[in-house]
Amino acid sequence: MVRSPTAHGESQLTVTKPKPCLLTVHAHPDDESEFGAGSVVRYHRAGTRTVLVCCTDGGEGRVPNPDISSVDDRTDVIVMRREELRRAAAIVGYDEVVLLGYPDSGAVDRVDRPASCFAELPLDEEVVRVVEVIRHERPQVVVTYSDDQRAYPHPDHIRAHEVAVRAFDAAGVASAWPHAGPPWQPSKLYYTVTSRERRRSVNERYASLGMDAPFSADASGGLQGRGDPGMAPPQSRVTTVIDVTSYVHLWIEGMRAHRSQLRPAKDRLLRIPAEVADEVFGHEEFVLARDLTGRGALEEMETDLFAGVHGESVGAHPRTVGRRLA
Ligand SMILES: [Zn+2]
Repeated sequence: MVRSPTAHGESQLTVTKPKPCLLTVHAHPDDESEFGAGSVVRYHRAGTRTVLVCCTDGGEGRVPNPDISSVDDRTDVIVMRREELRRAAAIVGYDEVVLLGYPDSGAVDRVDRPASCFAELPLDEEVVRVVEVIRHERPQVVVTYSDDQRAYPHPDHIRAHEVAVRAFDAAGVASAWPHAGPPWQPSKLYYTVTSRERRRSVNERYASLGMDAPFSADASGGLQGRGDPGMAPPQSRVTTVIDVTSYVHLWIEGMRAHRSQLRPAKDRLLRIPAEVADEVFGHEEFVLARDLTGRGALEEMETDLFAGVHGESVGAHPRTVGRRLA
């Protein structure tokens, strides 16, 4: 909204449509390239502003790429991963990358997690940081991890989900952290998921190509947390499928930009023949978790994260969908 002076020197109110903005909240440098990145490419190319909030410094990430000589110093890991993120974000097409810089909480099985790490710090302290970004960037759509992370229960991913959901709910409430900027309520909140059915069908396609399964419980390789496909959310929860064919090569390139995180097994998986890559990874799944657009209930699978966002009844009663857990 801008005010422009009239010929009489009066102020005339001109209403401009806010630019579409998509904001994602991820845990570590490399998650932004692995989870739902094809959709970010697609929206960025369509002129949508794309903003990434990366919560941790990735300092506890192991460097499983045998081509990189061992990096012992935590600071060196952080610097290396930040540089990889810079390259990956340019490939995926993020217009803005916000690094919250919290200390990485370490692997799922870590027992000596310090009180200063992202997963252990007071939640509200972190929520206000994301509220600030939302109020500054004014996204209509926010994407984060699912409420069901049994397939890969990384503490930082679970915390990123909690932070993003609370920030989504608080950003539009004027009395919540008034010092964090004027309130702004995003219209839709999504969880990025790869359903168990899709994981299985991708695994079958890899098998037919004589390649190892990308989604497996094997900790030495795989995609998206290497979790048991059976623990991933069922397809019945998926509300939205985004066609990202034509952008799959950039999704792969983004993951490759995180060279330090390229395990030999993951490297092999990313060598999927180009002629089948679009068919196998050309659709990304989401669960619509909050819909404040005022539309009616979804009657069919959504194909656009911004569907209903510029509808007439913005600001109508909140509706929560996709809450059922298997
Ligand atoms: Zn991660």
